[in-house]
Amino acid sequence: MSLTPAPTLDRCGETTDNIDTRLVHIGRNPDAFGGLVNVPVCRGSTVLASSLEQWEAGKLPDNPMASYGRFGTATTRAFETAMAELEGGHASIVFPSGLAACTHSILAIARPADHVLITDSAYGPTRQFASRVLTRMGIDVEFYDPLIGAGISRLMRPNTRLVYVESPGSITFEVQDVSAIADEAHRRGAFVVMDNTWASPLYFKPFEHGVDISIQAATKYIVGHSDALLGVATANRRAWDLLREGAHDFGQTAGPDDINLALRGLRTLSVRLRQHQYSGVALAQRLARHPAVARVLHPALPGDAGHALWQRDFHGASGLFGVALQPLTRAQLSVFFASLRLFGIGLSWGGYESLALPVDPPVRSVRRLACDGPLIRVHAGLEDPDDLAADFVSALDAASRAGSSARPQREAVKAQEA
Ligand SMILES: *Cc1c(COP(=O)(O)O)cnc(C)c1O
Repeated sequence: MSLTPAPTLDRCGETTDNIDTRLVHIGRNPDAFGGLVNVPVCRGSTVLASSLEQWEAGKLPDNPMASYGRFGTATTRAFETAMAELEGGHASIVFPSGLAACTHSILAIARPADHVLITDSAYGPTRQFASRVLTRMGIDVEFYDPLIGAGISRLMRPNTRLVYVESPGSITFEVQDVSAIADEAHRRGAFVVMDNTWASPLYFKPFEHGVDISIQAATKYIVGHSDALLGVATANRRAWDLLREGAHDFGQTAGPDDINLALRGLRTLSVRLRQHQYSGVALAQRLARHPAVARVLHPALPGDAGHALWQRDFHGASGLFGVALQPLTRAQLSVFFASLRLFGIGLSWGGYESLALPVDPPVRSVRRLACDGPLIRVHAGLEDPDDLAADFVSALDAASRAGSSARPQREAVKAQEA
């Protein structure tokens, strides 16, 4: 048994582009592990060389990661190889969380006195990192309208080093014209970093749209079972050395048990996503017709502002979307959540289970979401879609009934402001 992957990786399924087939075979290597179907969980810090010559070969510049556990074992390499192929990039590197992948991808590129453009719709903690940490490092952070498209050229400065995109955006689900933004960024020599978590590597192909570094919070659909935290960033050739060095300079690594869970998740990613997509769209369509719902934020719905771009660029939709309710009282909102039987209240998403989370009006610098009532982020899990719709609708009905004792709407506005 060798700790470094033998050259004879599983070749089965390599002759096909069919993603269902590829997902079963990528990153596996039975020949190297006594015939085991799966790459084992390889733990280790010290990696022994069998001779001085082998030790020295391990330190050569083209093989800088072979000599220490922090750079990963065969388990790490199997996952990173699979992810690079799925995203369509040159190479991938793991991080202990999705957020660490976001922050270190930015840190790998941005330097003091650089100007960095970040979409207004970025994942909240990424935004906070930009406002709190990047600015402290003397980096000029500017948030831009997610719908800006080629108009990003107006914001580009001689020192603009990085444009950060996330599509659809966190909480508000705006779809970005990533190709148009990347064209303008590259014209000015800037790098494009994307958080591609919503679509997973299956439903958006970042490198076909000009992205230089693509990030996955593998915690979500790739692990898929809400039992591990993991991030992965994938770079094209242009950005790979910067990304790898940036991650290693900070000592970023991830444990083999979590990576093993991500490898396991990959095998079923495609079939799970098909069901998440189906149930998410069905639920969103059902909720859009409910009188207690002001607006559904889901780019796969024909009426959504991002629908045309989603249709042009995406291969599918995940199960995560937003529901803006009509104004209601705090007591009604409590009744709604108390009435849900199948939706848990909790952070994260992408597991097999359904979630409904009250989200505060998101922090925005440029484009505020127009909605007066509470905003709910919904994750459609793998339960029966009819059961999910019935549960959500009956909770909305219960909340509406709780309001029929005629509470004034003003109270709702106050509750929102609190
Ligand atoms: C959850 C999430 C992250 C962060 O992932 P963690 O593993 O929780 O750190 C980053 N980006 C998006 C879009 C997410 O939804």
